[in-house]
Amino acid sequence: MLIGCHLSCNKGYLAMGREMTRLGANTCAFFTRNPRGGKARALDPADITAYERYAAAQGFGTLVAHGAYTVNLCAAREDIRAFGRDCVAEDLQRLALFSNCVYNIHPGSHVGQGTAAATALLANALRGLLAGSGPVLLLETMAGKGTELGGSFEQLRDILDAVDRPERMGVCLDTCHVWDAGYDLRGDLEGVLAEFDRVIGLHRLRALHLNDSMNPCGSRKDRHACIGQGALGIETFRQIVRHPLLRTLPMVLETPVEDNDGYAREIALLRSLA
Ligand code: FE
Ligand code: FE
Ligand code: ZN
Repeated sequence: MLIGCHLSCNKGYLAMGREMTRLGANTCAFFTRNPRGGKARALDPADITAYERYAAAQGFGTLVAHGAYTVNLCAAREDIRAFGRDCVAEDLQRLALFSNCVYNIHPGSHVGQGTAAATALLANALRGLLAGSGPVLLLETMAGKGTELGGSFEQLRDILDAVDRPERMGVCLDTCHVWDAGYDLRGDLEGVLAEFDRVIGLHRLRALHLNDSMNPCGSRKDRHACIGQGALGIETFRQIVRHPLLRTLPMVLETPVEDNDGYAREIALLRSLA
């Protein structure tokens, strides 16, 4: 089982790896830069090499880096899209230094111009960004709040199809988000996975964000809860971590725990359920 949580890499990647060990994690997510945007940390290739050696010794799996929230590749304004392209291009370049890392971003918000126009803008940006080689980019399933793109499997499929770089793209399924978007993970996990397979294809599912939800199915709110303390409930997570199609994927917690020790308790809980 590959399980971990969101961790800071502000003290370097080797320090992040040591924290993973302390928490019982063998994967994690990290922000390549301040989540609200801004410049990425100065790059230290020696630190990445040190992390790689440590990760190999510890048997860590695929890392799931997270792009900044401020990136909106389908914004109506060109300057906002350009800022996003610069961030993503730099992130992809940096993450290529890791031997085993995927890169997860939010599809973005169309802010009034409509889904079709936004899909075209996003696909256009991603085609350019993924022209070379580099890490696999994952689009995250979203709750569909506001004008967020990616609140349905169809929208994600339309983006993937429009970019047409299947070897460079995949999907990261966030359990809180799909539940909030109206997919009943609690009552019908098999049905949701069948729907994902029918629309997107399960071969494109590359990572999971494990979060309970503070709100009912279809609420489109996007408020994460701790595992077992929200509307999804502990039984849903037991089914997920035991599922043959899901249990091989990297699973990352983004729950509102007080500190990393809270993550360690959730990791232990999920390992015990698996
Ligand atoms: Fe996210
Ligand atoms: Fe998420
Ligand atoms: Zn969320």
